[in-house]
Amino acid sequence: ETVLEIEDLKKYYGRQGNQTKALDGITLQVMEGEFLGIMGSSGSGKSTLLNCIATVIEPSSGKIMMKGTEIHSLKGKKLAAYRGREIGYLFQNFELIDNLTGRENIMLPMSLHNVSDKESSKRLSRLASYLEITDVLDKFPSQMSGGQKQRVAAARALIMDPGIILADEPTGALDSRNAKTLMKKLAGLNQDENATILMVTHDSNAASYCKRILFIQDGRIFHELRRDTPDETQ
Ligand code: ADP
Ligand code: ADP
Repeated sequence: ETVLEIEDLKKYYGRQGNQTKALDGITLQVMEGEFLGIMGSSGSGKSTLLNCIATVIEPSSGKIMMKGTEIHSLKGKKLAAYRGREIGYLFQNFELIDNLTGRENIMLPMSLHNVSDKESSKRLSRLASYLEITDVLDKFPSQMSGGQKQRVAAARALIMDPGIILADEPTGALDSRNAKTLMKKLAGLNQDENATILMVTHDSNAASYCKRILFIQDGRIFHELRRDTPDETQ
């Protein structure tokens, strides 16, 4: 089943006559349970693509369909529900709230969307144990290592069981050991919990955990790589 479908997506920044083509006709599909990587160098359009999917910026033309619905036509409650329930965002720099504990950071989306306490604590303990963050749940971000912070952020992205996780250079601020731990956990959640993940990165070690990788340059996909067994030898 197709979760996300993007058709001929274009995004130009700036005024006419002085425009940057950030996306120049992107077409792709993400299937349920896929772990798709998008690789490209700085300036290739990766953040713009994620920001269009996250409805942070408006595309110039083209379509983005989430489970069959064109997302840029959503308004009001439906738009809020799309942002809050269908998308889990994992940022390079964690973006945790400093004066909330790990547990409070993770539970924030749950409380915003009126999920029952019983259901949320069950999901929290399962995710925390899987991500090995149970012992930092009562700590504040300033008391956590970078690797712990990113695993707490991953739990927050996953807590609502979103249709898709958008990961933007999730290993960018981690050393190689923590990056590897995070990628193994994400690959495990993809495998065991059928989490659908779209990750943009320029880290080829991180991308090696993906089953399919699209390469972009100048806002266009120029190559696709599929592998039956993602590289777990490192
Ligand atoms: P990254 O490679 O991590 O995406 P960038 O330096 O490309 O980092 O972008 C960082 C932020 O700055 C992004 O949110 C992007 O939208 C914005 N940005 C990038 N290039 C420009 C630009 N030429 N003018 C204005 N904002 C930009
Ligand atoms: P990446 O994430 O791969 O580094 P971006 O999507 O940030 O790429 O940028 C793609 C192109 O769009 C780059 O040429 C960048 O300078 C430009 N760009 C990004 N954000 C803006 C912006 N807000 N205003 C103008 N140009 C931008």
